[in-house]
Amino acid sequence: MIVGAGAAGLWVALEMLHQGVLKDNRLLIFEADQDKGKDRTWCFWERETLQNPHLRKLVTHSWSRVSFRTDNRVGNGLSPLLYYYVESSDFYAYAKSSLEGHKNVSFIYERVNRYLSTQNNIELTTNQYRTVKADRVFTSVFKPFFHLPEIDFWQSFVGFWVTFEDEVFTADQFTLMDFDIPQDDAVRFVYMLPVSKSKALIEVTQFHDNAIDAQKAEKLIRNVARKFAAHFTLGDKEQGKIPMSQILETQYLEHHDERITPIGTVSGAIKPSTGYGFLEMKRRAGIIAERIAADEVVNGFKRSPRFKFYDRLLLAILKSEPARGKQIFSALTKGVSPQLLFKFLDEKTSVFEDFKIFNALPVPLFLKYLFKNITVK
Ligand SMILES: Cc1cc2nc3c(=O)[nH]c(=O)nc-3n(C[C@H](O)[C@H](O)[C@H](O)COP(=O)(O)OP(=O)(O)OC[C@H]3O[C@@H](n4cnc5c(N)ncnc54)[C@H](O)[C@@H]3O)c2cc1C
Repeated sequence: MIVGAGAAGLWVALEMLHQGVLKDNRLLIFEADQDKGKDRTWCFWERETLQNPHLRKLVTHSWSRVSFRTDNRVGNGLSPLLYYYVESSDFYAYAKSSLEGHKNVSFIYERVNRYLSTQNNIELTTNQYRTVKADRVFTSVFKPFFHLPEIDFWQSFVGFWVTFEDEVFTADQFTLMDFDIPQDDAVRFVYMLPVSKSKALIEVTQFHDNAIDAQKAEKLIRNVARKFAAHFTLGDKEQGKIPMSQILETQYLEHHDERITPIGTVSGAIKPSTGYGFLEMKRRAGIIAERIAADEVVNGFKRSPRFKFYDRLLLAILKSEPARGKQIFSALTKGVSPQLLFKFLDEKTSVFEDFKIFNALPVPLFLKYLFKNITVK
């Protein structure tokens, strides 16, 4: 049984299908929201030739160059990588059409609001008073399975699809972080994804204890758009917030019933320092399906202590001294190639490469927090 047909739940279901797990197992997928629609965009970086058949069908746009300022006309080449874009509504539709026709899969559009662990199985009850029994549950939702831990640092963002009357963008280039906006005691930057020469998603992102004020964000977006000196209109809005906290990575350890497996955000699949998690959820879903196929226990995923430590250090600095965020990320993006930066964010760099990255950073600041956070958990 899967609870939550968002990114993680649908990846797990697709991987189960792909790896033949559904031939002999029945899968129920519970989802509270029948019409999720176009609620987000998912971006990620990957090799220029996408290996994964699902992703090949889902990507609708990609960029070969990245810039760190919205007005930079010549960004850095990403080769051998591309930055890819998937529309959430395409992913939901693709996953549902792949799964719905399968004789062993059923979607139930009801909210799960209670569960009971018994010796033989797990009993779930929905808001429609339906009760079902399952051997295993994969859940991407907190309630009713886990207590929502207190999150004290968030990545929040508000974005608009902005259409200009003139051609103002270089369509094969996106802006990852432009810090040229007021920081106001938070870490704030502009993220911009042009899908043509005249249309882009322009988003303001904030790292702070509280979510960004939507009106303030819209004002900032209008100011960014004005810099292009062309008439523009704001279209669809994207808004959200992602926990920037390592507390979610301990969910597995605290949970008492190993037949209930947290997935997605709930399981700490989102990297706390960046907010990226879409590909990691796919990777973990593949491992989960493999383990089920081999009839092995599906237990937790542990991140590398080295990268957890780096994240902890960065989060501690950003939370305590948000004014330094602009300096840190600007130094990082100026001094490190995007390929190395993405490799680091993928947690695949060697210690030697890590030192090359740290070399670009304000060393005294990191040393100060290094001593405060010296224990590696
Ligand atoms: C706006 C936005 C943009 C993002 N962009 C990116 C990006 O570009 N790249 C990237 O790597 N990551 C991105 N992320 C982070 C991450 O990939 C997404 O948040 C991702 O959707 C998380 O997947 P999930 O399955 O954990 O949660 P969700 O996708 O939110 O799925 C949870 C599902 O559970 C359902 N549900 C909730 N309660 C119940 C219940 N009691 N019973 C049944 N169903 C229930 C919800 O309706 C929802 O469909 C983004 C996040 C947001 C919010």
